[in-house]
Amino acid sequence: MTSQTLIAGNWKMNGLLSSIDEVRAVAEGSCDNAVRIAIFPPYTLIHPISQILGHDSRVVLGGQDCHYEDYGAYTGDVSAHQLYDAGARMVILGHSERRHGHKEPCETVALKVCAALNAGLEPIICIGETLEQRKEGLTHAVLSKQLRDSLPDDLMGKAFHVAYEPVWAIGTGMIATDDQIVDAFSLIRRVISERFGTDFKPHLLYGGSVKPDNAVDVLKLDGVGGALVGGASLKAKDFLKIIRAAP
Ligand code: PGA
Repeated sequence: MTSQTLIAGNWKMNGLLSSIDEVRAVAEGSCDNAVRIAIFPPYTLIHPISQILGHDSRVVLGGQDCHYEDYGAYTGDVSAHQLYDAGARMVILGHSERRHGHKEPCETVALKVCAALNAGLEPIICIGETLEQRKEGLTHAVLSKQLRDSLPDDLMGKAFHVAYEPVWAIGTGMIATDDQIVDAFSLIRRVISERFGTDFKPHLLYGGSVKPDNAVDVLKLDGVGGALVGGASLKAKDFLKIIRAAP
């Protein structure tokens, strides 16, 4: 699995055809940088953006979710194969806006991870505690359970990323402290190595209020392999500052 820093932009339900210029600006503005860049636009924009970027673009495209079945009577859903067909090569799974907003259980996330891998997509699997859970001292228990139940057994040797995104840090401007991030990462590493063996080194991202002015500090933390960025990925000028902050 690559250890290259990954800066991933999650556009959520934002962006129109006119926003494609932002992706073009990211692709053009980041050519000297060794960082891996991924953008997760809404489904409607994946194919048009992939047509414009072309096959050898350094910006990888991804979906923000997928169904665990390949096809069928699932109104409103999109399969991993359809994402791949549209030009996506990655997918975000288990984002807190799916876990909490759509009541998506860990077991469903695990099925989606399998579907994504089978379709040739590299998943970013998100986990994170709510503020209440943190205040009640449940952070480790919540993260361990989400990890255990959202990761399928056959991940061994596959390219995937785990994003630690505290729910209370998403879209709030309240970034987790260095200690909180380092603590969560060491727990994630421990849980994964207990399950998959000590040779298995997961690629870990931090997400939650990463901005141009705090990106340097987050990305230099030991073991942080990149960032999953929401609001600050919508404008190329902000996203490029985060990309350039990577060590
Ligand atoms: P944010 O979102 O950067 O706007 O906090 C992060 C995310 O939801 O992945």
